[in-house]
Amino acid sequence: MSQPPSDYYSWLRQNHPTIPPPFAALRQHVLNRDGGICRYCDAPATEVDHVYPKSKGGPDAEWNLVASCTLCNLIASDTVFPSFEAKRAHIWMTRYVRSYYY
Ligand SMILES: [Zn+2]
Repeated sequence: MSQPPSDYYSWLRQNHPTIPPPFAALRQHVLNRDGGICRYCDAPATEVDHVYPKSKGGPDAEWNLVASCTLCNLIASDTVFPSFEAKRAHIWMTRYVRSYYY
């Protein structure tokens, strides 16, 4: 029986083509797609956000991922919103409109 090579992901994809590429590649693709800018506040993005939360069943798919800064991702947490615009509005109000909560 042959040993798996040191590049384990390449070996897996050749032998099990249905296994998706590692999340790191998708993450970098989404960051590049959005120009490295947070889609919620236009600050430099440092991470990717699941628009529909991963903890609620949102997939690791390109359509469900946007570039995000740490603060916007933190505010959104795992709340489910009816649309991307609603989520963006909630984050924007939380960050910039004091009267939204007080
Ligand atoms: Zn942001």
